[in-house]
Amino acid sequence: MSKHHSLLQSFGALLVLDADSRRIQAISSNVAVMLGVSAPEEGRFPMLSSVLGKRLSQRVRYELQGQQRLPGPLTFKCPTRSNRFQLHAYRAGAHVLVEIEPLNTLGKQRLLGTVNERLMRLAEATHQEELLDYLVMAVQELTGHDRVSVCHFDSDWHGLIVAESLSASSVKPSGELPLGRLPALLGQRFPAKDFPIALRRAYERHPVRLIQDVAATCEDLQPRDVAVDVSACFLRAPAPERQLYLQRLGVRGALSVAMQGDAGLWGLLYCHSATAHPVTPPVRDAVRTLVQMATQRLLLLRARQEARYLQRVQDSLVLSSNNRLKPQNPYQLFTQHADTWQSLFRAHGVALWVKGSVYQSGNTPKPEAISQFVTRIEKAHIHSGPWCTQETTKEPLTSSLGMLEHSGVLAIPLPTSPTQRSWLIFFRPEQVETLYWAMQPSSSPLHPLMLSPSAAWCEEVTGKSEAWQRVERLAAMDLGEDLTLAISAYEISTLNMHLERERKALADANQRLEQLAHFDPLTQVWNRYRIEQAIDAQLVAAQRYGAAFALLLFDVDHFKQINDTLGHSVGDDVLVSLARLVENSLRGCDHLGRWGGEEFVVLATHSNMEAAEGLAERLRSLVATLYVNGLDQPMTVSIGVAVWQHGDSCKTLIARADTAMYQAKRNGRNRVEIAAKSAP
Ligand code: GH3
Ligand code: MG
Ligand code: MG
Repeated sequence: MSKHHSLLQSFGALLVLDADSRRIQAISSNVAVMLGVSAPEEGRFPMLSSVLGKRLSQRVRYELQGQQRLPGPLTFKCPTRSNRFQLHAYRAGAHVLVEIEPLNTLGKQRLLGTVNERLMRLAEATHQEELLDYLVMAVQELTGHDRVSVCHFDSDWHGLIVAESLSASSVKPSGELPLGRLPALLGQRFPAKDFPIALRRAYERHPVRLIQDVAATCEDLQPRDVAVDVSACFLRAPAPERQLYLQRLGVRGALSVAMQGDAGLWGLLYCHSATAHPVTPPVRDAVRTLVQMATQRLLLLRARQEARYLQRVQDSLVLSSNNRLKPQNPYQLFTQHADTWQSLFRAHGVALWVKGSVYQSGNTPKPEAISQFVTRIEKAHIHSGPWCTQETTKEPLTSSLGMLEHSGVLAIPLPTSPTQRSWLIFFRPEQVETLYWAMQPSSSPLHPLMLSPSAAWCEEVTGKSEAWQRVERLAAMDLGEDLTLAISAYEISTLNMHLERERKALADANQRLEQLAHFDPLTQVWNRYRIEQAIDAQLVAAQRYGAAFALLLFDVDHFKQINDTLGHSVGDDVLVSLARLVENSLRGCDHLGRWGGEEFVVLATHSNMEAAEGLAERLRSLVATLYVNGLDQPMTVSIGVAVWQHGDSCKTLIARADTAMYQAKRNGRNRVEIAAKSAP
């Protein structure tokens, strides 16, 4: 253990006991003055009860059994002196340490009242600035230090003085600093190296640090050969480098209290005096309570502010707006929302990269630079959260991309496809910032100016944008998820649209095929193939149920003449008109088909000989009424009728009808002939 560790400040006294809390092993050199006890002689260990009395020492021993420390401070009246003291006891290694401080209870009641009133005011503060201003003022009143400041740490652990209260006597009306008083530090920064990690850790363990007088000579432990760990001791003397540091700031008396945030140290509250400055235990406790309360309130205010911001981002989301029903394409999404996004993320430009297309709004780099950036980041940044930089020129991913006007980039991956993500990218301009350093930020050796902390070092920071805050990065995640869903919804809907279109085209093609396969292209009645199918079906039914049916085969008389005199196309028209006429006159269960050329077949279901002959006659006379433009005499047909008989096939049936039809031609045309029953 290095020597200074066992050095103690003199505003309190320390007793070092054995692990059993019975006997005193060592004492700080000021115990004699404070309590009237002398150091144990070599090899002799006086009982604790000889100093604290029997009852108090028993209580300490009893309450420490199996415990690390006493639950709270104990107060007592010294038997040899008449003043009151406060006592803390805890274990340190193989020892029990008892820290004793004189207690001045005068005005304690009044103090409690003041603190309560202060707490109420803190709890009502609605803004960080108001809260901290009130805190430093209240603490300054309580402790009477020359200067009370709140130092807030940024993400690099640089400290910035965000609130300060100076005692009225610190500043003369002329603005000139009285000799031996402390200068204002408000708005100035302290470099991160002033807050080494060990110091920050120490504040996490012991949130209150009192240095009554940096320049005071320290108390020693007697006898000196007892090795005691005083690192957790409230009385421990500041390390020499800390002493030097405070002296350079012109500070002799200091009280600092940690402001513990939800993710580490939010900041510190400092009370500084140019002269030695005692702070009694009740005042310290009051300060600590105020600081804790203010910190809680601060975190709450910040959480509320962040929640409000996140709500604004939520409200801006694409899916929560009312166009959920009709998915929009990425371009529409972008043009509709770019302005809102830009203002929410305090950006001067925004770009959306989707499948090689770049949509841009505001001030952004050229599309080629954006595409190049996407190619790089797609490879380099595989995790799902947003990526950001404040300094594109220093960042390897962006340094060679010529984004000179854009110092800050926030890139949000959108997993719209498993192979290639889309990217929403925000751009911020350079934000030239002048930092005022209370201590020189570089690690260069001591500068003579350092001895006068009132001289602020100015540093101009260029090439950097404003920082992307934690809450903005959180909001970016929300926005990313939402936009991914919106783009995916659009892609799914267009995919469905394509599928629906293809399905319809296929159905149309099928219908056309069906038409071609079954219908005669000129007359639109069944073709020969289809009518044969129908005849076959009738043959099956007739064979099974004996359902009689008939075939009528008819042929236009002297059709060649029509073609020859009026032209082939008139011939075609005649065929179409004839087919329409006959088709429309048939019952629903009968069918007309074109057998070939100017020959047609009628399939008459449920028809015996008489019915078929009647139908044939009706058709023959109907055709004679057909009027066709340019035809000077009525058109006639010759009809052959064949009725189903057992043993018929399509072929035999047609053959009989054909024979009958030729018979009709031979017998003078425009007539009906019935096929004779063939021999069984
Ligand atoms: P018949 O009274 O003996 O039946 O005399 P016809 O002139 O009607 O008989 P023929 O078989 O000699 O002539 C039939 C004509 O029908 C011959 C052919 O050019 C014509 N033809 C066949 N199919 C079509 C067609 O689709 N359109 C037109 N315009 N003519 C056709
Ligand atoms: Mg003919
Ligand atoms: Mg013919």
